[in-house]
Amino acid sequence: MESGKLYDAIEEKIGPTGWSLIIEIPRDDVVAPVLDVFKGLVAGILLVYLSAVAAAVFSVGKVTRPINAIAERVKSIGRGDFASTVEIKTGDEVQTLSDEVEKMAVMLVEKKEMEKRLVQTQKIASLGRLVSGVAHEINNPLSVIIWSSQLLLRDFKPGDRRHEDLKMLEKHALACKKIVDDLLRFSRTGKQVDIAVDINRNIEEALSLIGKHTKGDISLVLDFDPSSPKVQGDPDRLHQVFLNLAVNAVDAMKKKGGTLTVSTRSVGAGRERSVEVTFADTGCGISPEDMERIFDPFFTTKEAGEGTGLGLSVSYGIVSDHNGRMWAESAGGKGSTFHIVLPELENAGQETT
Ligand code: ADP
Repeated sequence: MESGKLYDAIEEKIGPTGWSLIIEIPRDDVVAPVLDVFKGLVAGILLVYLSAVAAAVFSVGKVTRPINAIAERVKSIGRGDFASTVEIKTGDEVQTLSDEVEKMAVMLVEKKEMEKRLVQTQKIASLGRLVSGVAHEINNPLSVIIWSSQLLLRDFKPGDRRHEDLKMLEKHALACKKIVDDLLRFSRTGKQVDIAVDINRNIEEALSLIGKHTKGDISLVLDFDPSSPKVQGDPDRLHQVFLNLAVNAVDAMKKKGGTLTVSTRSVGAGRERSVEVTFADTGCGISPEDMERIFDPFFTTKEAGEGTGLGLSVSYGIVSDHNGRMWAESAGGKGSTFHIVLPELENAGQETT
């Protein structure tokens, strides 16, 4: 408004004053600071809002990411993949949940292993009963055949055709007898003798028997626990286990040669203390399909007449009778390793062999 008009307007409102003070302030000087305050206020509110949204997104992500990882882990366990693990270190309930899922996976693996062992033991036990009956029936007539052929052999000189025929008869009857003996050994359960056995010594004795089977370029390395761990059991039956493992290893290496490393070591502590025996060879290895069946009675990949397929199932039965565990692993053609874990004798010092 012009100053004259403003003056008239004031006088009209409040009457003549005699004097008047008119302060003129540019419009922008009044409005601009108010606008600035308003803009600052809006920017502040916007900043607070955006920070709240960002914080919400961040904290939702912080929770959902590990939960998604746990969900994926549970799905993979459902598919039977127990090996991969997920590690969550949030230090809160989500970590507790993840730890529990991992514990569940470990328990499932143990349960699966136990079921596998149970099935294997039951398979061997039921087959053992059947085999035992048949083998006993065959054993007697077979003994008579061998005994009679040996008796008759005395009557015919070498060179005589009948001597050769009888020799052939004896040879085949003896081969059958070996199979029957294997079957009888297979069906035998429990410990016949139960004494403290020095595992290192027992393995050495068994290995001394395979000397004659080692052909070609095969070397033997012994890596024994110097504390000479002892187990409670039947030394002859344990010999049989170690002999079976050694013969198989030698067979697996007979084409190309290699090394069989036999080691013992004490594992665990207190009442859980055990001795682990490993037979590791550098032979042909075991394919994944065969691996599923090697402990099955009568499974063999050896030529007819060379294997009965009973060695590993017999060994498995013997190790189970000694409250032990036995398993194998093989990385393709890079050899095989057999592991045996037997409970260590708590109170060594009894009769030892
Ligand atoms: P057998 O020796 O009479 O065949 P086993 O029960 O001892 O019977 O072995 C079963 C099969 O397991 C063998 O035929 C072989 O295929 C496999 N096997 C066992 N030990 C080994 C080994 N160290 N390396 C490769 N294959 C093996």
